[in-house]
Amino acid sequence: MKKIELVDVGPRDGIQSQSTIVSTSDKIELISRLADSGVKRIEVASFVNPKRVPQMADVELLIESLPKIKETKYIGLVLNEKGLERALDTDLDEINCATVTTDTFCQRNQGKTSQEMMNSLGRMTTIAKKKNRFFGVTIAAAFGCPFEGEVDPTKVLEIAKNLIGLGVDEISIADTIGVAVPTQVTDLVYRLKSVIGEVPLRLHFHNTRNTGIGNVYAAAEAGVRIFDSSCGGLGGCPFAPGATGNVGTEDVLYLFERMGYQTSISMAKLIETSKWLGEVMGQEMPAMLNKAGSFP
Ligand code: ZN
Repeated sequence: MKKIELVDVGPRDGIQSQSTIVSTSDKIELISRLADSGVKRIEVASFVNPKRVPQMADVELLIESLPKIKETKYIGLVLNEKGLERALDTDLDEINCATVTTDTFCQRNQGKTSQEMMNSLGRMTTIAKKKNRFFGVTIAAAFGCPFEGEVDPTKVLEIAKNLIGLGVDEISIADTIGVAVPTQVTDLVYRLKSVIGEVPLRLHFHNTRNTGIGNVYAAAEAGVRIFDSSCGGLGGCPFAPGATGNVGTEDVLYLFERMGYQTSISMAKLIETSKWLGEVMGQEMPAMLNKAGSFP
């Protein structure tokens, strides 16, 4: 049976830009519920300036308070070397850093051009490796940029090649603003495979324009086995106000279960968690399965 791994990014990407501030205890409960549902990798927080992202003001306290579960890995997102230093001071299992395909977006997000960010990633990979910490990198805005428009896939391939040269542990490809369509995904994944070889490839889709599930399917057909998703499909996009968020974990889970893939996650527990999260956030979750229920 083909195995699929879902990384729930809800506690970070899902709630990051929500106006309702989630308490530390509710975050702990969300992460614990996800782990109990069978999610093996969870992105729990990002090490950013709390003035810019108030939702992430409690990162260190949160990580300290998380239950240690043998089979569950906690991931923290960092955007720069300062963030990496903070992350290394915690006992997070994995650290993920992001870079962006275009200079304008990279400058806005991380205060560096794409090339400057690559130089920084060189130093960061060395530091993380010295500390024996799993270090992955996300290539953001891989299919389109809110400032510069279309992104040439050769740019993504070039960044991926450089990251392989650095020796990163995993490469993620993110459709940060949710503009990709399945044919683009198929094309990019096949081209990436020849560049990255055996290094794990993870895909991150937003459902901003309702192509999220189609893109997940296309990537899986092209051989991708690791996907980001967020419980309830929470996670707005700062560049598309009012848009829905990440692809919903329950929706992606349904797709893969019914297609005969093996996952580690309980649909019933996940839907319960999604409904609970809706109550905490005081809003209807954008994902479909928490409303429609599973089948049969
Ligand atoms: Zn995202």
